[in-house]
Amino acid sequence: MLAGPLPELLDHRKLANQQGIVEGSFPVKQLERFGEMLVDLAGDVNLRLAFSKGEHDRTEVHGHVATEVRLECQSCLRPVTIRLSSEIAVIVVKSEAELEKLEEEQDGIISADKLMPIAALVEDELMLAVPMIPRHGDGECPDSEYAVTEDLAAEKQDESATTYRPFAGLADAIGKQNEPES
Ligand SMILES: [Zn+2]
Repeated sequence: MLAGPLPELLDHRKLANQQGIVEGSFPVKQLERFGEMLVDLAGDVNLRLAFSKGEHDRTEVHGHVATEVRLECQSCLRPVTIRLSSEIAVIVVKSEAELEKLEEEQDGIISADKLMPIAALVEDELMLAVPMIPRHGDGECPDSEYAVTEDLAAEKQDESATTYRPFAGLADAIGKQNEPES
C-alpha cells in the first residue's frame, strides 16, 4: 500500500496486478484545469483508491477523493471555503477508440502508458463536484460588502440627479453671458 504524500505518477498496471491501494494526498496545484476554477491553489487533495484488473485486462479504479478549496462567492465575490468530495469509479483505457467502446455508465480515462499522473484519476470528478454557484451560507458573507456597494451606487445616482442639474444651468448661464460678446 502506498501511503502519505503521493508521487505524481503511478504505475496503474502494476497496482492493478497487485490489487494495490493508494492512500494519501497530493497538492491541489498538481491539478491544472481544476486549479483554474479556484481562488488560489492552497491545500491538498486526499484520496483512497483501490486498483484492480477488470474486463479486457483493463485497470479499474474505485475509491474516494476529497479536498477543501477556496472559490469565489457569487454573492460577495470574496473567497469561500468549500469542501468537495466524490466517489471515483474509472476504467483506464489505452486510446480514444477504446474509450468510445465503454458502456455509457462507465467512466474512462485514457493512458497509453502504464505510468499515469495520479491527478488524472480524480481531476474530472473534482471539477464536477464544484458547485455551479459557490456562495457563503445565508447571512455568512463577511461584512456584507455587496450590500454596501449597492448603497453607494444608489447614492451616486442621487448625486447625479441633484448635482448635475445646477452645472447644466451654469453652462446655460455662461453661454448667455458669452452671447453678447460674440
Ligand atoms: Zn459571500
